[in-house]
Amino acid sequence: MTTTLLERRFSTLGRHSPLFYDEPIHLVSGEGVWLTDADGRRYLDAYNNVPHVGHAHPRIVEALRAQAATLNIHTRYLDDRVVEYAEALLATFEPELDRVLLTNSGSEANDLALRIARQHTVARGVLVTDFSYHGNTTLLAELTTGLATREPLGEHVRTFAVPDLDAPENAEMSEQAILAAALERVDRALGELVASGHGVAAVLVESLFSTEGLPRVPDGFVAGVAERVRAAGGLVLADEVQAGLGRTGNWFWGYQRHGVLPDLVTLGKPLGNGHPLAGVVTTASLLEEFGSRNEYFNTFGGNPVSAAVGHEVLRVIDEEGLVARCARLGSQAREELGALVRNHERLGPVHGEGLFFGFPVFTDGTRTRPDPGTTKRLVEAVKSHGVLLSKIGPAASVLKIRPPLALEDEHLPVLLGALTDAIAETVDQ
Ligand code: PMP
Repeated sequence: MTTTLLERRFSTLGRHSPLFYDEPIHLVSGEGVWLTDADGRRYLDAYNNVPHVGHAHPRIVEALRAQAATLNIHTRYLDDRVVEYAEALLATFEPELDRVLLTNSGSEANDLALRIARQHTVARGVLVTDFSYHGNTTLLAELTTGLATREPLGEHVRTFAVPDLDAPENAEMSEQAILAAALERVDRALGELVASGHGVAAVLVESLFSTEGLPRVPDGFVAGVAERVRAAGGLVLADEVQAGLGRTGNWFWGYQRHGVLPDLVTLGKPLGNGHPLAGVVTTASLLEEFGSRNEYFNTFGGNPVSAAVGHEVLRVIDEEGLVARCARLGSQAREELGALVRNHERLGPVHGEGLFFGFPVFTDGTRTRPDPGTTKRLVEAVKSHGVLLSKIGPAASVLKIRPPLALEDEHLPVLLGALTDAIAETVDQ
């Protein structure tokens, strides 16, 4: 059955459309934090951030159904749903960030944010980290450093490394010294952009450094980067596609953790709980400037069904207290996981925020060489114990645990139990 479907997939979608696992999972349904495959096997979903409030949440399903049964149309008529959603979404931001443009994907949002920044600054140069992903448009492919692309890095792009306080090479250095060295590298990259004649339009930074492997950055790093970019005339773009909407627990938006107020914030993945919904949040003056020069229009972005779904996601997060629970469960999970990996010299320490965390896997107790092979086997073994998660980081050697915020207390032992067994079978062997 699965082989047949796999072959049909290859002969229609091609062989290179990514699939997880040596033996891909054929999922047929989801509910809350649980997924069921075609053989009736249930998995705890500790990976997916798109079904933010839970798979097939009845209220989201009903909001979608009810609006689709009433009216769905493009975005050039007056519609109260989109205005009500925009008001509710903007109420979660600082007062300065008071305008939103809705799109259908995170890629579209980042592309648009870069256009706004470039027009405002009359500069082309963009600063990104040296292992990041912000989307798949032509503009974004030219600044992709964390995923294989044939597009060479754009001549207008410069990269900087994200410091990790727990990296072996930083073991002998103070946090202050690590921060100073990291910001010096940012200064150099900015200097190069200015010297190249492209100027500085923006820094695009993902608030959790997810693709980068969740490094533990020194306090003040992101604020220091923002300050330097602004001094060079550029804008600060926070990519909240992964870090936003309460994922980090103690903050509704990930950039708030860094004490930075961005000029543009891009949203995606969890916004529509699986329905394609994304956007750019910015200031009235930046939007006014862009809007007065460009006839920007988006057929689907912010249509009545998307707006109804997005608004219901916000209501569910609020009424079910998901952000506070994410903070509590996230900290409990990281503590328990920390206790588990402390017994294994090749693992750890645990990194992350809220319900997005993981730990690196090394080849031996010196914790200097990443071990992608064991990490991959660990991910497969966790699956065989009924839990789905993945791996991230430049060496694909950091375990990636990022369940829907629908995770509840009773699910933690399932996650920790599967990890304990899988570690015994792979790391301890
Ligand atoms: N930014 C980040 C941080 C992402 O993780 C992704 C998707 N993985 C994107 C942008 C692109 O979003 P989309 O796939 O919706 O275009």
